[in-house]
Amino acid sequence: MENGGSSDRYSRIGADEIRELEIAYLFPTYQRYELFLSHGDGVCLFDLEGRRYLDFLAGIAVSSLGYNHPRISRILREQGGKLIHSSNLLFQPYQGQLAKRLADLTGMSRVFFTNSGTEAMEAALKIARAHARAQGHEGKSRFLCVRNSFHGRTFGALSITAQEKYQAPFRPLLADVGVIEELTSSALAQAFDDRVCALILEPIQGEAGVRPLPRDFISRARALCDQHAALLVFDEIQTGFGRTGKYFAFQHYGIKPDLLTVAKAIAAGYPLGAVVGAASVARSLKIGEHGTTFGGGPLACRLALEVLDIIEDEDLVSRAAEVGGRLIQELHRLKDKHPCIRDVRGLGLMVGVEVGSIAPEIVKRLLRQGVVANASHGTVLRLVPPLIVTWEQVDEFLTVLDRVLSEFRG
Ligand SMILES: *Cc1c(COP(=O)(O)O)cnc(C)c1O
Repeated sequence: MENGGSSDRYSRIGADEIRELEIAYLFPTYQRYELFLSHGDGVCLFDLEGRRYLDFLAGIAVSSLGYNHPRISRILREQGGKLIHSSNLLFQPYQGQLAKRLADLTGMSRVFFTNSGTEAMEAALKIARAHARAQGHEGKSRFLCVRNSFHGRTFGALSITAQEKYQAPFRPLLADVGVIEELTSSALAQAFDDRVCALILEPIQGEAGVRPLPRDFISRARALCDQHAALLVFDEIQTGFGRTGKYFAFQHYGIKPDLLTVAKAIAAGYPLGAVVGAASVARSLKIGEHGTTFGGGPLACRLALEVLDIIEDEDLVSRAAEVGGRLIQELHRLKDKHPCIRDVRGLGLMVGVEVGSIAPEIVKRLLRQGVVANASHGTVLRLVPPLIVTWEQVDEFLTVLDRVLSEFRG
């Protein structure tokens, strides 16, 4: 069964039937690509016809170890045959060990595990409110976020996701949220007062088109949070675990947040998220004030421990920095050749190529040429390949991109 071949009768289905069933039975929330997957291997995906695709999407920055990593497959077999789910009412071996690893890696102190990134954001919002209350600050309940942020789709996370297309159909949202309209220190200072309990930032905005926040903006954010006794919350759901060439993106900026949310790459594609808290916030949440059924289950945590070991053993953080640096450099070269490229930006293997409104069309044509990528914000090619991507695969990608961009001349 190594390459996804299966005797499972549910896998004996063709593209037309898959599409018909989805049209008939799913809420129509997704616009899927024309790609009917069979399986993955390394940095590649394979469709039902056996055609190979180079994957520069990695399940939206989730599959950092690629597909079928032998050590992940082994854990799935071993732990899958032992204990998949327990309950947060009972002890199991892995949750505490993973929490310690996350605390050590971040220099922070406590962890709450969730099922997803969004749920980690919800936990962070509640912890921020609980922290303000525990400090005796009644009425300190305001959240600040920035324009074009993305933190998830549930009501709390959506309320701090300042993008009209996501919010408009669902108002009214959480009251008491302020949006910082510009990424400047002065806009930040103007938005602050003592009612703010937390400022929530993505150090590199993913859904907004791969936009690293300016360095002075982040240091001012840290200073203002300290000044107003507000928590600085970093959403590193997309940027965490080596993606940007450091373990966490905050480590590029020489500051530390008070709360850090992580998910996506943490457990090699198995759902898991976490909020990590600094020592100063550690005691703000009391027994019974928050919880979850699935979060931090034994299989998820065992997988995440293996992911962390693999990242270390295969030196994937510095590889992301090196290979990503080379990718960005080569994309700048393509920019000189192709006027449709307006900007290239990013850190490590989180890269955005600004091409304007042709981005979705480029994504379609890349797919036809055997490359999976994605358009973020409708105008930016987002490149987030598995961290195990090789120089050769980056070159292969660049050759295909060069060819596709040539079709947009004049
Ligand atoms: C993906 C993402 C989320 C939402 O995470 P889910 O696991 O989809 O709930 C939140 N914030 C950022 C920055 C993300 O990239």
